[in-house]
Amino acid sequence: MLRQSFLYLSRQRRLRHWMETSSHARKLTARFIPGQTLDDVIGVCHKLHAGRYLATLDHLGENVATRQEADTSRDFCLSALDSIAASTLPATISIKLTQLGLDLGDDLCRRNVDLLVRKAASIGSRVEIDMEAHEYVDRTLNLVEHFQNEYGCVRSVLQAYLYRTEDDARRMSKAGVPIRLCKGAYNEPASVAYPAKSTVDEQYLKLSRYLLDEGAYPALATHDPRMIDSALAHIAKTGRQPHEFEFQMLYGVRRDLQQSLVDQGYRVRLYVPYGTAWYPYFMRRLAERPANAFFIARNLFRA
Ligand SMILES: Cc1cc2nc3c(=O)[nH]c(=O)nc-3n(C[C@H](O)[C@H](O)[C@H](O)COP(=O)(O)OP(=O)(O)OC[C@H]3O[C@@H](n4cnc5c(N)ncnc54)[C@H](O)[C@@H]3O)c2cc1C
Repeated sequence: MLRQSFLYLSRQRRLRHWMETSSHARKLTARFIPGQTLDDVIGVCHKLHAGRYLATLDHLGENVATRQEADTSRDFCLSALDSIAASTLPATISIKLTQLGLDLGDDLCRRNVDLLVRKAASIGSRVEIDMEAHEYVDRTLNLVEHFQNEYGCVRSVLQAYLYRTEDDARRMSKAGVPIRLCKGAYNEPASVAYPAKSTVDEQYLKLSRYLLDEGAYPALATHDPRMIDSALAHIAKTGRQPHEFEFQMLYGVRRDLQQSLVDQGYRVRLYVPYGTAWYPYFMRRLAERPANAFFIARNLFRA
């Protein structure tokens, strides 16, 4: 059993390495991951900015296993903030705490993130702290609260599929932390998350209304027209102004919807991932929408 698990993991690692270094795979992922280098994505952000989009830059990576990898990720993120400052783009960065050493200890992670948030504060940007699998939620929210108290330029992410999220939304809103609300992208057990998609959707609607009423500059991260229409109806009723919240979407997903919101004068921030460690991010996007896998397969045969 142990031997089988080991063989499975080592096959997965080899597959991931092969995919991430293959030039064919690169062509297929470009729709969702527009660049490998910081220069690539700063160019992309300039184009987005010209089209009235905001951006958040995500240097891909998660669950690093060594201190050196965590420090390297931190340096990539610091360079991203330097480039944002130099280009005067109204962009933020998005990070995953396991990319900055959370699996190796809270202290190491806190030290790395401190440098990022401090720099973001000094250039008028923000660090958006992605939410990962449910085992990390408590430690992530504790760190978010700490940085909010120290610097006040972070954003927390909450996932509508978790049973606990209503409580977390109240806690974060009381602490004045801006929240990005998403449905949740990890494969969670029924002991912690609503198994039915319809219930997750209902939770999303309820939480988005709460954040629009009580939250500090909320971000609604979804490509679901039903979630967006409901938020717009609520906004029309309550009189929230377009500069008091934003929509967030993933680069390359539902570009029609992104454009329509921008055309209506709403703020839309695109999540722009870059780098070479794209495999887990890309696989989550395929899992969310099986049609993406057909799109990839079709292009693979064409390539
Ligand atoms: C800016 C942003 C940041 C995010 N950050 C996090 C995070 O920190 N933690 C986390 O767990 N999750 C995060 N997510 C992912 C999120 O939790 C969902 O998994 C994802 O957004 C799909 O949910 P949905 O709200 O778009 O609705 P769904 O009901 O999944 O989809 C609605 C419609 O959107 C379109 N769509 C959705 N996903 C895709 C896709 N991959 N490809 C093509 N079309 C698609 C389809 O038309 C679909 O019918 C983030 C999402 C966004 C937009």
